[in-house]
Amino acid sequence: MMISIEDYLAGIPKRYQGIYQKAMQGQSKKAAIYAKCLDCVNWQRKEVALCVVNTCPLYPYRKTAANSARALLEGTAERKTAGGR
Ligand code: SF4
Repeated sequence: MMISIEDYLAGIPKRYQGIYQKAMQGQSKKAAIYAKCLDCVNWQRKEVALCVVNTCPLYPYRKTAANSARALLEGTAERKTAGGR
């Protein structure tokens, strides 16, 4: 059974919805890698860093993607603050 992107997005923790949307809009390969890794570990950020599945094709990229995504998240937070709330 297929699920709509909108329904899937609704089930993602709010903190990561922007990453997922950026990935699904084809805006960032790093966001796509990080979103897939987060999905793989049930959206538990620390588990991405602890992943030991070195046979996964995403394994070599997960930390770089996570660092970029973290900066992206922090950038989002800065924009919200700078916008006067
Ligand atoms: S690198 Fe690890 S966390 Fe990422 S998709 Fe592969 S198995 Fe899952």
